[in-house]
Amino acid sequence: LRHLVIVLGDQLDLTASALTDFDPAQDAVWMAEVMQEATHVPSSKQRIALFLSAMRHFAQTLLEKDWPLHYSHLEDGQNSGTLQGELKRAIERLRPQALVMTAPGDWRVLQDIQSVAQTQQLPLVLRDDTHFFTTVRDFAAHAKGRKQLRMEYWYRALRQRFGVLMDGDQPSGGQWNFDADNRASFGVKGPQNLPNPSHFAPDKTTQSVLDLVQRVFAQHPGSLDDFAWPVTRAQALQALDDFITHRLPLFGRYEDAMWAGQPWLYHSQLSACLNLKLLSAQEVVQAAQSAWQQGRAPLPAVEGFVRQILGWREYVRGMYWTQMPRYIERNALNAQEDLPGFFWTGDTDMACLRDALKQTLRYGYAHHIQRLMVLGLYGLLRGVHPRQMHEWFLSVYVDAVEWVELPNTLGMSQFGDGGLMASKPYVASGKYIQRMSNHCQGCRFDPAQSVGPQACPYTTMYWDFLHRHQESLSSNPRMAMQLKNLSRMSSETIGQIQQQARAHRSSE
Ligand code: FAD
Repeated sequence: LRHLVIVLGDQLDLTASALTDFDPAQDAVWMAEVMQEATHVPSSKQRIALFLSAMRHFAQTLLEKDWPLHYSHLEDGQNSGTLQGELKRAIERLRPQALVMTAPGDWRVLQDIQSVAQTQQLPLVLRDDTHFFTTVRDFAAHAKGRKQLRMEYWYRALRQRFGVLMDGDQPSGGQWNFDADNRASFGVKGPQNLPNPSHFAPDKTTQSVLDLVQRVFAQHPGSLDDFAWPVTRAQALQALDDFITHRLPLFGRYEDAMWAGQPWLYHSQLSACLNLKLLSAQEVVQAAQSAWQQGRAPLPAVEGFVRQILGWREYVRGMYWTQMPRYIERNALNAQEDLPGFFWTGDTDMACLRDALKQTLRYGYAHHIQRLMVLGLYGLLRGVHPRQMHEWFLSVYVDAVEWVELPNTLGMSQFGDGGLMASKPYVASGKYIQRMSNHCQGCRFDPAQSVGPQACPYTTMYWDFLHRHQESLSSNPRMAMQLKNLSRMSSETIGQIQQQARAHRSSE
């Protein structure tokens, strides 16, 4: 055997760089389902099912092409349970001359594979992942010599470099950023005529995976009743088309809005397809840009969407790979609380948090503002250890892979990196949630109150957070307004708030 080509569960594309010179006469593909990937954090049932089903569908594609494939099944009695163990077994059996793979997304996985290659004394050929616009080297070059990194400058440079939404050297529409157009809430009437979310009924392969997950991972979080994710390239393309046609036009305007019982709104639901490489970033951005060029979607919506993928997604990847392995240990605010148990059940009286948690456990999905300004905000204000927040976020979402999840959780949402990802902590009181959703209407807590039986825990903990961290935050000019409001409070009120925050932490 010439090459044993490693294909991980999030590298499911025939055109991946690892496969460009694949020769079925002298090479073979290796894929493995292993317990470790589902248990190093307690992966949700939806997440395990998505990965396994997409892997099995990809394996079928390879077999249909008559490409030699060595595939370890999870329930195979000989399965060692780890990527390293399975790879070692395959190498000993097949004796390849070299291992070839597309650079993996996660640091831990790269270490594991490198160490197998080393102990087996085999060359490991790592190729760039072409599903991204940029390489980690590009990011490192951009970061070099800059005192402070900001997504906005990276994003503008990429718009220019790749000619995305550009009019010569000027941004289309004369501005780089349409955030001001993209912050609407649904008002009192709520969302009108919402398009249907994309939905893919499980086929036979998926059904047998769902049965397996139900059997083997019964104790893992979440449920499978509503599993409807795309699991093949063809379905992913359909999901992309569905988004561009039905949801992109209003994506921008309602990007930050929330509504009880409505998990999908105008979001794309494409993160899992992108992260598993059923879609490439380039084709998704291209599809959105074409929709604008053809007059099918307005520029602010398209720019808002492109910013997430060309901007944020490429940015967090560069951040992850240039900061690991120390990044995962960071805890700039010295947050030491435990994650409350209700994060695994959704059983809490806080209506916004309950809605976001229940939907997460049911679908493996929550949109960005729910993750940042409901779930993440709660952990940040409460002072939960960022490592525990990270492990929860990595467990529950179908799109969760460490390279994208960790900078978003530890950096953007928990300020654990002290300001690398975000220029200030994303802190707000319950009033932000009230403005952007209808959750507070049915809630027993009042976001306007910070003390007393009706006080919203977000509002109480917001002031408590500012008070606790005022010294370290006072050097940040972007916190000035919030700290000024804090300084208007009497020490008596602060004392009551502190007491109420403590009581909340110990009761929930
Ligand atoms: P849309 O709202 O339709 O956005 C379009 C696409 O843009 C997404 O599919 C995604 O690929 C990309 N995108 C948007 N925001 C970001 C971002 N901040 N970073 C990277 N890409 C982005 N995204 C993941 O893919 N995996 C994760 O594990 C993950 N964990 C997160 C944890 C926290 C605490 C936060 C605040 C955000 C996290 N995100 C993660 C980013 C974002 O919330 C999800 O990508 C998005 O909600 C997925 O839903 P969607 O496909 O409908 O996205």
